[in-house]
Amino acid sequence: MSEQQTLRVPVAYTGMTLHSGIPVHMRLLPAPANRGIVFKRLDLPGKPEIPATVANIISTNRNTTLGLGAAQVMTVEHLMAALRGMGIDNTIVELNAGEIPLGDGSSQVFVDMIKQAGVCLQGERRRCLRLEQPVWASGNGGHMVALPADELKITYTFVTNHPAVGTQFGEYVITNSVFAEEIARARTLVFWQDIEYLQQQGLGLGGNLDCVVIVNDSGYLNTLRYKDEIVRHKVLDIVGDMGLLGFLKAHIIAVRSGHGLNRMLMRSIQEQANLMMGVGNR
Ligand SMILES: [Zn+2]
Repeated sequence: MSEQQTLRVPVAYTGMTLHSGIPVHMRLLPAPANRGIVFKRLDLPGKPEIPATVANIISTNRNTTLGLGAAQVMTVEHLMAALRGMGIDNTIVELNAGEIPLGDGSSQVFVDMIKQAGVCLQGERRRCLRLEQPVWASGNGGHMVALPADELKITYTFVTNHPAVGTQFGEYVITNSVFAEEIARARTLVFWQDIEYLQQQGLGLGGNLDCVVIVNDSGYLNTLRYKDEIVRHKVLDIVGDMGLLGFLKAHIIAVRSGHGLNRMLMRSIQEQANLMMGVGNR
């Protein structure tokens, strides 16, 4: 049996955001068993809370944004990946703005925060979501399948005809140590030709060569942390998005998926879980 876990003490971090390009102060606080992961906007009247659930996803345009009522929080995926990848069930994420800080474009600063806080067992059973049948989703040229499994395993194929990036393949069983050592440091990729378009949309304003891997026609503009950093980051994004389901035990096979397709797959997984109520959710 796995027990639920939370942080031992509060931890804080201040940093820039990727899309809105403003500084944000964030605190991760211990929370009681069965509270889940909850975002709290201290800057808004009434300090509204937004639970980290699939139902609260309001946008998947280049990031995963959650919202409830008038409150929203952008770019939750790299923090969610760190929390689930490091085995955190319950925490309150306090923010004074509507976006999670970018850190170095990976999950590393959040993993460091969790290690700094320490983790404690809460004496309550963790409820993991398991599949009884395969589930799939396709769209926007991408495909995802989730197969029943006793662990979270992610197989990703990143497809591009860009000569410097190439097609990349990665497969990882997500344990705390695999996440911390193989996945957490991988950063987001941006194609040079997309930057102007993103900035016109008001997105990606806080990105620079320290925290985003940028590639143009002649190759990478910065030094990679892993030769296959891009596919590792895609795995990171899936860990983060699937973290909105709680702890999922499944083998996810993905080709060219992004946040929108991740959401479609999660909804299909939830539909099956509802059908199997009492059987699939054990
Ligand atoms: Zn990402």
